[in-house]
Amino acid sequence: MEIQENIRLRPLTTLEVGGCARFFVRAVSVEDAEAAVQFAERKNLPLFVLGGGSNVLISDRGWPGLVLAISIRGIQEESSRSTTLFRVGAGENWDSWVEHAVARGCAGIECLSGIPGSVGGTPIQNVGAYGQEVSETIVSVAAFDRCQKRVRELSAADCGFSYRTSTFNTVERDRYVIVRVSYALRPGGAPRLGYRDLETYFAGRNGSPTLSEVRDAVRKIRGRKGMLIAPGDPDSRSAGSFFKNPVVTADQYEDLMRRAAERNLDLASYPALSEQKKISAAWLVENSGFRKGYRQGNTGISSKHALALVNRGAATAEEIVGLKDRIQERVEAVWGIRLEPEPVLVGF
Ligand SMILES: Cc1cc2nc3c(=O)[nH]c(=O)nc-3n(C[C@H](O)[C@H](O)[C@H](O)COP(=O)(O)OP(=O)(O)OC[C@H]3O[C@@H](n4cnc5c(N)ncnc54)[C@H](O)[C@@H]3O)c2cc1C
Repeated sequence: MEIQENIRLRPLTTLEVGGCARFFVRAVSVEDAEAAVQFAERKNLPLFVLGGGSNVLISDRGWPGLVLAISIRGIQEESSRSTTLFRVGAGENWDSWVEHAVARGCAGIECLSGIPGSVGGTPIQNVGAYGQEVSETIVSVAAFDRCQKRVRELSAADCGFSYRTSTFNTVERDRYVIVRVSYALRPGGAPRLGYRDLETYFAGRNGSPTLSEVRDAVRKIRGRKGMLIAPGDPDSRSAGSFFKNPVVTADQYEDLMRRAAERNLDLASYPALSEQKKISAAWLVENSGFRKGYRQGNTGISSKHALALVNRGAATAEEIVGLKDRIQERVEAVWGIRLEPEPVLVGF
């Protein structure tokens, strides 16, 4: 395990902004990860764990301590009658793992095709898309616990999953280094098709689509929205959706309805989540004066998706934050809702 110094982080992220890591190490094993944590503790350095860099905004000052990049590989498979259990190294590329599962004929994560990043990054915000979330198939997460100084197997219940959250990005932030994630998938299972974009894609077709057809469809739909990392597509130099869809109370929902009616607009919301309502953040952004393709210096909004803030080539983190602040302020002024960023802001 080699500890390097002053390593540029910008090329290790999809948004391609940010400064250097004072120290940097790549862990290819659980032992490497443990040794790296010990190094940071011995030297009293702040530790940041990096996966695929697809959900981070790194400050122009970089990271003053140790960046621990997780490259732990390996996929182990264990079959029982109705499920197949896969233990997947946290450093595996997420989309390659989905491709593998689909090729093995196992259902449960096909709608999450095309999401960039690592396997270890997915439990953090309970990654979801097109009607599926990883919390539906994760059975446990193996993680090095920085408090207890040992690797623990956390059950799905321990992870406290809900919409774009888990204990890893809330109450236990920075406590765990995830080394492996276990998923229970359904061999021979049918693909999930509930999401409107997918229904439209397959409308009029005879017979049900296969897992692999759904995977291809999801990747095509994502590509059209700039939500697939494609070299040469400037709209994909982003961190995906920059804002979470706000979940509002009944009172806030009433207030939003009133504001929408004043403007002769129909409020776009997702189906009610228990007592609450999930509102489309993209709708709020677009109805606050920001359009797809909006430009602000070296930054802007993707021409294909209103929620993706993009680096137009030479953006600094400060410029991205400037655009984020502007959108948050404007949406709050018009709709009375403060949008919450989805990517993790690092080193600010
Ligand atoms: C084009 C594009 C499309 C996207 N579409 C979606 C989408 O549809 N749905 C969705 O939910 N997200 C989406 N994202 C966001 C992102 O891809 C996911 O959140 C992804 O799971 C992040 O994984 P990562 O390995 O890149 O994490 P990173 O960006 O490297 O890190 C993100 C956070 O996770 C932590 N982390 C990462 N790995 C570990 C580990 N092994 N142990 C402990 N902590 C760790 C980091 O410390 C950080 O806090 C998209 C991003 C892009 C760029």
